[in-house]
Amino acid sequence: MLRQIPPIGVFVLWLTVLFGVTFFSDDVFYKSQKKSLDTFANDPIEKKIHETQQANLEPDLVTPKVIEKPKNIIKHFRVKKGDTLMKVLTSNGVDKKQAANLIAALKTIYDLRSLPIDHQLSIHFSTDSYNANNKYNKVKSFSFLKNYKERIFVSRDTTGNFTSEIKIRSLKTKDVYVEGQISSSLYEAALSQRMPLKLLMELIRIYSFDVDFQREIQRGDSFSILFKQHWNADGEIVHNDTIEWAKLTLSGKPLEYAKYTSPKSNHTDYYNREGKSVKKTLMRTPVDGARLSSRFGKRKHPILGFTKMHRGVDFAAPKGTPIMAAGDGVIEAVGRKGNYGKYIRIRHNSTYKTAYGHLSRYKRGLKKGKRVKQGTIIGYVGSTGRSTGPHLHYEVIKNGKKTNPLSVRLPAGDTLKDNELKIFLNQLTSIDGRIQKALAD
Ligand SMILES: [Zn+2]
Repeated sequence: MLRQIPPIGVFVLWLTVLFGVTFFSDDVFYKSQKKSLDTFANDPIEKKIHETQQANLEPDLVTPKVIEKPKNIIKHFRVKKGDTLMKVLTSNGVDKKQAANLIAALKTIYDLRSLPIDHQLSIHFSTDSYNANNKYNKVKSFSFLKNYKERIFVSRDTTGNFTSEIKIRSLKTKDVYVEGQISSSLYEAALSQRMPLKLLMELIRIYSFDVDFQREIQRGDSFSILFKQHWNADGEIVHNDTIEWAKLTLSGKPLEYAKYTSPKSNHTDYYNREGKSVKKTLMRTPVDGARLSSRFGKRKHPILGFTKMHRGVDFAAPKGTPIMAAGDGVIEAVGRKGNYGKYIRIRHNSTYKTAYGHLSRYKRGLKKGKRVKQGTIIGYVGSTGRSTGPHLHYEVIKNGKKTNPLSVRLPAGDTLKDNELKIFLNQLTSIDGRIQKALAD
């Protein structure tokens, strides 16, 4: 009984395979707001693929009585780890010769080594040659999204050769201004304003150089940001750009920064209205929404009972809270280390190292020797090792000596001068105008 799947079961299974495909979107936060997960239905190509999915039922699998040929046959699939495009194409009904020609055309505009795992690819087969047993299948086109605005498209021309091109998706761009009052944590305030998580992490990263998020954030403080958002014609968000401007008001004192890319060096950074960079060498607080629970210095040990020197600071935070790299650097140690439990140490430069203890787990793929950027997540708060509850034990090691992270003097970044300052100030004026406009909309 169980061994035999009824024909209707096969049909349902096939429908699930066919329509169960979710389209790529980099913005998980907005997914719940979307009317549909098909974020691409408005590109001419996407629309075609979308519309023709209706006709995309293999006759053999639906019912043997169907005589009419379907209008279009499109297969969607994903690249798995260890797959080559040749292998993926041939296992999806493309013969070796066609696959080789297709790949050769693709290579002229796209580096195949950068084909991401789990990325959705689509093959469009010609109907007059299509055979479900993968014989004589003629490819009409092959496509995938390179990024949110570009689609790679390889198609067969009238002479039978494959040509490739990059098609720009038609998207609408608008400025989005988000403002929020902080009642408990920045995280909650941002969440209540439906601010994308990616931008919240950016905001924290920008301000981590001069804000101690435990001690300085109070009820009534506020934040506002400006960023560009890209929409398709169905009113679905397909991408959020990085923060262009941000203001954090703490106890009535505003801290304002705008993004600027130097036309000379192509270096991007955030600067205040005086043209001073936000950059300092290390973050004082590599974890958001945490409470400083133990300072650097002599203290009575909570487990051992006697007075002991505490050579770091502790931040109490719920288990699983992301921990960020306090500065650019190289992972020097990752693994269990005695009382520290799960432990990470980063070497930033010849002077500074930072260490993180009691983690619940490490960021996937984090390895010794790996380069990390300031503000990227390296692990998650936990209570491993000698610990009374979930917290991060954070150390700043200067010239091999553990120093107080909260009082360590950090050198400032660069300051814009002359022509660069002029360009930046002009940009700020235009940002002010865009904020007014976004507020009026
Ligand atoms: Zn500690």
